[in-house]
This record gives sequence, C-alpha cells and structure tokens, in this order.
Amino acid sequence: MISLFGIKDLQPHLYLDSTAIQTSLSQRFITAFKMFEINLKLFYISIQFLLLAAVSSCYQCQTPDSWLSGIAREQQQNTDFGDRSLLQNSNPKGKIWPNGVVKYKFHETLTLWDISEVRKAFEEFHTKTCIRFEPWREGDNNFVSIEVDDSICGKANVCLIGGYQFARFGGQCRTMAAMVHQLAHALCLGHEHQRMDRDDHVGFQNCTNVPNKAAQFHQGGIYDYLSQMHSQCGSCDGGFVVDSRVKCGPDVTRGLSNLDAEKINSIYSCKGTF
Ligand SMILES: [Zn+2]
Repeated sequence: MISLFGIKDLQPHLYLDSTAIQTSLSQRFITAFKMFEINLKLFYISIQFLLLAAVSSCYQCQTPDSWLSGIAREQQQNTDFGDRSLLQNSNPKGKIWPNGVVKYKFHETLTLWDISEVRKAFEEFHTKTCIRFEPWREGDNNFVSIEVDDSICGKANVCLIGGYQFARFGGQCRTMAAMVHQLAHALCLGHEHQRMDRDDHVGFQNCTNVPNKAAQFHQGGIYDYLSQMHSQCGSCDGGFVVDSRVKCGPDVTRGLSNLDAEKINSIYSCKGTF
C-alpha cells in the first residue's frame, strides 16, 4: 500500500537538503509578504475611494444648469399631466407658488425615516418663512412629488413648472438638509456657487470639473457663504475661498441660512412673523 501511494515518489521532497528548504521557505515568505503588501495597498485604495465617493455623492446636487433659471418649458416631464397653462405662458420663467402655498405628495419610495426628514425640512420653512407645505388634495393641479432616488444625491424642478414636478433625494443624502436644498429649488432658489458674480467670492483654480455659472431666477444680493444652496467650500464642487477660515456649504448650515430665508421671503412677499 505504501509503495502504491509512492513513498519513493515523496522522497525527493522529504530529502531536500536544509539549504534548499530554507531558500524555499524564505521565497515563500517573501511572496506571502508581497501579497500582503499588495492587499494592504488595495485595501487602503478601496477605503479612500469609498470615503471620496461618500463625500462627493453627499453634497452634489444633480439639478441641471438649464433648470436653474426656472423656465417651465425646459423642465416639463409630462405635458399631458396637470396645469398646461404654464406651458402656454409666453414668459413662464420663475413662476412662483400662489400665496406661497406648495402642495405636495409623498411618493411610495419614501420610508418612515425619509418622511420624518422631509417633515423636519417643511418645519424649517414654516419657522423661517411664510411658505406653507400642504398635502395635495383632489383638484389641486400643481404639486411637488417628494421622491427617493438612490442613484443621485438630489435633484428638483426649479420654481413652479405646472402639474407634476419633483424634489428627490437619495443615497447618503436622505437628510433634512438635503431636502431643504431641493425644496428651496422648488421655491425658485438656484445655486449660490453658480451665481454670475461668484468669481469675486470663490475660486476654482486647478479644478477640472468647474461648475458653470448659470443665469438664475433670483440674482444679486449679498454673496451667502452660509447658504444651503452653496456647495461645499474647499472642494471643486463649491470652490475655494482665499481665506481658508471661511467655511461654506452644507456642513456649516443645517437648514436655511438667514439670507436664504430672507431671499424666499422677498420672492414671496412675506410680511410679519411666521
Ligand atoms: Zn441644487
């Protein structure tokens, strides 16, 4: 039996001299160490990639530049639905919600967590502005559908476009702050870091993907580094400030900044306290 299993065949391995064994062992050790080193590098690269993906996806709004001016015609998703009179309007740019009342529907993609975050976002507007978010009722032509889309951070139609329009958040951005940003789009606010005069306030040196300047509905006023509509400073999303102590973007303002609220109250002619 032993010979059948070839003990002689095993002999060359069993009888290698000690130097050969040592060489073999050290080669194996070196190979194993190199593999470990490669795996460690791959691990670090993966972690860095994941962290970068998490940070960049969190604060990137995917609302297209062409929507920021609030022109209804460019944003209509479904012209067979809702109030088409806005499409017939010769100048539908920057249409605002009558009396500051925004009708909404919760889409079935929302979880209880999402609804809780959206309600906190509503509360932010109700506390600081005269805007009122109210549930859609039969007969309401225009409404914002609040939706989850995990392929994006956020995206919303800008101003009142007529009929169905949406405000979406997703991924790492299913938060109150991200929804405040998207609802502010629905109310006609654009992006602070895309203002035509933004070069006076932030720089994009050495950036490959520079956000475009965009002609937006509500122009001018004090440049608001604290705006919820400003992308993260210190990055190519929001630009770089000469004084690095100046911070801006979602990590410094949880909800609406004072100037965000002022801007909305000015657009909607809000008066008094809220
Ligand atoms: Zn945005």
